[in-house]
Amino acid sequence: METQFCCPKCSHEQDSQFDICPSCSVVLSKLKSSAARMTHRKQLANQRKNFKRQMLLTLSISAAAFVFLLLGNFHVVRGSAYGGPTLLPKSTFGFSETFINTDALTGLPYIAATTRYPLSVKALQNSGFLETDAAREARIKNEINMEYQQVMRESREEYERMLRDYEMRH
Ligand SMILES: [Zn+2]
Repeated sequence: METQFCCPKCSHEQDSQFDICPSCSVVLSKLKSSAARMTHRKQLANQRKNFKRQMLLTLSISAAAFVFLLLGNFHVVRGSAYGGPTLLPKSTFGFSETFINTDALTGLPYIAATTRYPLSVKALQNSGFLETDAAREARIKNEINMEYQQVMRESREEYERMLRDYEMRH
C-alpha cells in the first residue's frame, strides 16, 4: 500500500514521493523534511521523558527498598538521655517497635517496660544502654541483702536497748 500525502496548501491527495505538488506546485520536500525533523525531535523528547520516568521509578523503588531494609533491620532510637537518633540492630527482621524513645521506656517500671516494649528493652540491653537482666537481678539481690542487714542491725540495737532498760529497772 502506498503512502498518500495530502498537500498542506491545496489539500490535493497524492503520492508522498512527489517533491512538488502536481496540483498547486508548492515545494513539498521542504515541508516533508521539516515535518520529519519535528517528528524526530518529538521522538527524542519522548525518549528522554521515558528515560527520566524510568530513572525516577527505579530510584524511588530503590529508595523504598532501602528504607524497607533499613527499618526492618534496625531500631531508630532517640531520647533525652540517649542523644541520637541512632540505629540499633534488631534481633530479627520486622517492623514492630522500630522507633524507640528511651524517655517513654525509662519512665516505666521495669516489668511494664519489658511487657510493652520487649524488643526495645532487648535492643537497649544489647547496646549497653539498659542493664541486662542478670545485672538487674544481681543489683536487686544486693539491694535486698543490704536492706536485710540494715533491718537486722536496727533490730539488734533495739533489742540491746530494751535489754539495758530492763536491767536498769531491776
Ligand atoms: Zn498542492
